[in-house]
Amino acid sequence: MADFTAPTQDQLLAMQVCAGIGELARNDRFSAATPDLIEAIAEGIAAFAAGEWAPLNRIGDIEGARLADGVVTLPDGFAQAYAAYVEQGWNGIAAPAEFGGQGLPFTLATQVLESLGAANLAFTLLPILTTGAIEALQHHGSEEQKALYLPRLISGEWSGTMNLTEPQAGSDVGALRTTAMPIGPDEFEGRHAGKYRISGQKIFITWGEHELAENIVHLVLARTPGAPEGSRGISLFIVPKYLVSEDGSLGERNDLVCTGIEHKLGIHASPTCVMSYGDNGQCIGELVGRENEGLRAMFTMMNNARINVASQGVQIAERAAQQALAYARERIQSPRAGSADKHPVAIVEHPDVRRMLLRMRALTEGARALLYYTTGQVDRGRLADRAAAQRAELLVPLAKAWCTDTGIEVASLNIQIHGGMGYIEETGAAQLYRDARIPPIYEGTNGIQAADLVTRKLGMEQGGVLAGLMDEIVREAGDVTALAGLARGCARIGHWMVEEASLDDRLAGSVPFCTMCAVAVAGSQLLRQSRAVAAGAAPALAALKPVTARYFLEHVVPEAAGLEAAATAGAELLYSLSTDQLTA
Ligand SMILES: Cc1cc2nc3c(=O)[nH]c(=O)nc-3n(C[C@H](O)[C@H](O)[C@H](O)COP(=O)(O)OP(=O)(O)OC[C@H]3O[C@@H](n4cnc5c(N)ncnc54)[C@H](O)[C@@H]3O)c2cc1C
Repeated sequence: MADFTAPTQDQLLAMQVCAGIGELARNDRFSAATPDLIEAIAEGIAAFAAGEWAPLNRIGDIEGARLADGVVTLPDGFAQAYAAYVEQGWNGIAAPAEFGGQGLPFTLATQVLESLGAANLAFTLLPILTTGAIEALQHHGSEEQKALYLPRLISGEWSGTMNLTEPQAGSDVGALRTTAMPIGPDEFEGRHAGKYRISGQKIFITWGEHELAENIVHLVLARTPGAPEGSRGISLFIVPKYLVSEDGSLGERNDLVCTGIEHKLGIHASPTCVMSYGDNGQCIGELVGRENEGLRAMFTMMNNARINVASQGVQIAERAAQQALAYARERIQSPRAGSADKHPVAIVEHPDVRRMLLRMRALTEGARALLYYTTGQVDRGRLADRAAAQRAELLVPLAKAWCTDTGIEVASLNIQIHGGMGYIEETGAAQLYRDARIPPIYEGTNGIQAADLVTRKLGMEQGGVLAGLMDEIVREAGDVTALAGLARGCARIGHWMVEEASLDDRLAGSVPFCTMCAVAVAGSQLLRQSRAVAAGAAPALAALKPVTARYFLEHVVPEAAGLEAAATAGAELLYSLSTDQLTA
């Protein structure tokens, strides 16, 4: 595969214009985020990602993670690259300074993960999951738990996991059956009194077992005795691979084991583990927060994890676009039909290939713009800006669903541009396409994201949060009528959903509606970028940005507007056949 270069210029522009990082840095809490530091981080991680993680992407795909006797190993090079990542301090960018982090905006941490993930998506799941564990403990852990676990999770010496899924409990997390029994003072010679004995099986646990970190801090959802049915009866537990003594030193191995890793379509270097807890009745866990409030804690973790998964869509799209651009310049086929010169040309000269290349760039930049707009709102929310916090809540499902769908489309176009070679594994285009297929599924499928949009998120302020955002887009669109029209359409549908539509009708139109809203926000952010570039920002993008923004506004935005009929069609047709008729 072609060499990888991190898209530093476009990231810096997106952080500046869409996240408003300059404004964030004016607040005391983020005052360390000076332009010099931001640039140094962007350039530093670009070099690290290209030099250390990108070279492992292919071997990670070909050899993948392997399990033998409960131990997962990665191909040569992964352990050294992870050690270098920890040593250089990349893991704690946005983590709290009191526990060894740098306390910088979430936006910057997102940028670091974006560059790493574009270099090697499967590998980057390791720090993504650790970040989620840090977030959950930071907000819901006791002071003792924070002191014990956060410093080493933040440094990256220990990694984290998130254990929700069980065979019968996927989207329906409330169906989980793993149990947690309180340990009394007479058991284990009193050593674990107040803790819990964990028992059950979890499946699909990302980086659930490996040897790259000294310890793995599993965050496990389980039920305590007498807990209510469903999601109201779920509690969150820290279940470390090695028990941790009060002074932070590692003790005996906990009673948990990886019993299998999945053979899957993509992300082969990310071990997807079947985890068995308490086979010998000795698995020790400690409660995080209060009993039955586990889902709330997990949501803290999931919100940012969903943004990091949205970023994976951008990452795949970036890598695929770079590969397609390089190939289109090299591959010579046929003269250009509309030219008097009858010599064969590089395929980049043919109109349809140009269309695909421009589409890839426009979609990638649009997804990035939406991503950093979302992170900027998250950062403002952390500064107690309630309106921004609500807007971030609204944006999360849009970003997660549309950015990851975009990853697939761009990876698919990359294969198309490669022609037959794209379908052959050795070019690496197929790997990107296979890797791109998982982000729309995990962290809540994109269908679940769209349902979240039309139920919980649309319900905020009786539809007012969405309406306010769309109003703003209409006002800023000025003479860009297609964008204003799309935003008006979103507002109209939002109003219909809140005031008139049945729940079935809303859910039936949720996915096209989610796409419409995401494209409206991405389009408005690209318009902002384009105007900023016209005013002198990012001179390196002076030629490219106006064209990619225009392509997005003139091609992608009208397509999204065309989804209004599907978004408002309702559920009647979907249920006009009985289940037996549909599945006959
Ligand atoms: C590679 C990989 C890594 C993963 N990593 C982790 C991890 O680290 N930790 C973890 O806990 N889990 C992890 N998962 C699990 C992942 O989060 C689930 O697969 C995902 O949430 C979907 O659950 P499911 O597979 O059971 O699908 P199902 O819930 O069975 O869904 C099947 C289909 O039905 C739809 N559907 C289901 N319910 C509804 C509904 N109410 N309304 C509308 N549509 C619905 C879904 O959208 C989907 O299209 C991972 C999975 C994979 C494949």
